[in-house]
Amino acid sequence: MINIPKGTKDVLPKDAAKWRFIEDTARKTAADFNVKEIRTPVFEHTEVFARGVGDTTDIVNKEMYTFLDKGGRSITLKPEGTSAVVRSFIENGLYNETMPAKLFYITPCFRYERPQAGRLREFHQFGVEFFGSESADTDAEIILLAKTFLERVGIKELELRLNSIGCKSCRAEYNAALKAYLKEHEEGLCPLCRERMEKNPLRVLDCKDEGCKKITAGAPRILDYLCGDCRAHFEKVQSLLTACGVKYTVDPDIVRGLDYYTRTVFEFVSSAIGAQGTVCGGGRYDSLVESMGGPPTCGAGFGLGVERLLLLMENLGVAFPGERKAEVYFAPMGESAYAQAFRLVYELRRKGVAAETDHAGRSLKAQMKYADKIGAKNVIVLGESELESGEAEVKRMADGSKTKVKLEEIGEFF
Ligand code: ATP
Ligand code: MG
Repeated sequence: MINIPKGTKDVLPKDAAKWRFIEDTARKTAADFNVKEIRTPVFEHTEVFARGVGDTTDIVNKEMYTFLDKGGRSITLKPEGTSAVVRSFIENGLYNETMPAKLFYITPCFRYERPQAGRLREFHQFGVEFFGSESADTDAEIILLAKTFLERVGIKELELRLNSIGCKSCRAEYNAALKAYLKEHEEGLCPLCRERMEKNPLRVLDCKDEGCKKITAGAPRILDYLCGDCRAHFEKVQSLLTACGVKYTVDPDIVRGLDYYTRTVFEFVSSAIGAQGTVCGGGRYDSLVESMGGPPTCGAGFGLGVERLLLLMENLGVAFPGERKAEVYFAPMGESAYAQAFRLVYELRRKGVAAETDHAGRSLKAQMKYADKIGAKNVIVLGESELESGEAEVKRMADGSKTKVKLEEIGEFF
């Protein structure tokens, strides 16, 4: 037997409807917020992510599926959505079109990580990216979009954590202060954080190591270093959320794992799915487009993990809408009835009515059992006498009631 690769999953028919429900809800919510879909390739030139995600991140350093193709090019399977969308935004000159550009995607992502609950090597993200607006309204709007989506799939009780990590100028001052503090406590840091401290000290705040956590608890806080503009921006985001009745907590430890963020960062977190509690993460990235070779263009967005969301929905016992059931099942008896049923089923299906019949010459009893199993709403038995009279009985399974119908008019009955 050949096994599925580690860290990947099949979506089996019993779960496919759950996926469709999530995807449909994402599309509907995006449309309600006037957000348009963008699709980019599953793989890109490695440089897209090396530059976009940033080479001090875990993703770029450890987690990417990178290989040389037969032409000797370095190719990487998309580990996240934003950088690819930014590449496309620049390459296609979307900045020349109406601004803001409000885009969303549903995409597979690939990261070489240690698989565990809520952490896979192939997973899926629903993400949005808004370009061209510096306003705090944009930050608040993407948060409201994520929240609306989460509510619509049945999740009400997610904690929203919010922070601002400032802009280039205020973060430089903060980084210096943080670095000085971390240097004083260097012995207590994990080896990785000793390295991070030099290249990107903010990342140390993100470390899950207990020793590092103890040290960062007493570290200088970014919020005390925000410049006037960044402070005003962050306050506006908060007041917009409050005006919409959205609860949140300001959490100065939220820095996000990617290099490109500026100002607002946020996460939707749940305690119901164990260690991998972040279902959705996002924020503002005002220098990303420029750093990838485009004109200076503000941006903000989020990425939401579909598998983690599914896990949460299952753990919370959220009800999923059921599969569409067959409207009618034809139970033919005898060769000519089979031919008739085959044709009638085809006719109904072409009209958009879900219909089913037997292919295996099973007994009437076995067919009735099958019709029950697939949840058919109506059953029509087709035997010699029905064919002769051109009439059959439609039996409604919910209450057993029967209605006579002419076979040639069956298309109008359903
Ligand atoms: P984590 O801290 O859990 O590693 P992250 O900061 O790496 O998350 P992002 O890059 O912000 O995650 O991705 C956005 C969302 O994608 C996450 O909040 C999560 O729901 C989902 N996600 C990220 N990595 C994985 C993975 N390996 N398997 C499943 N879902 C993932
Ligand atoms: Mg990660």
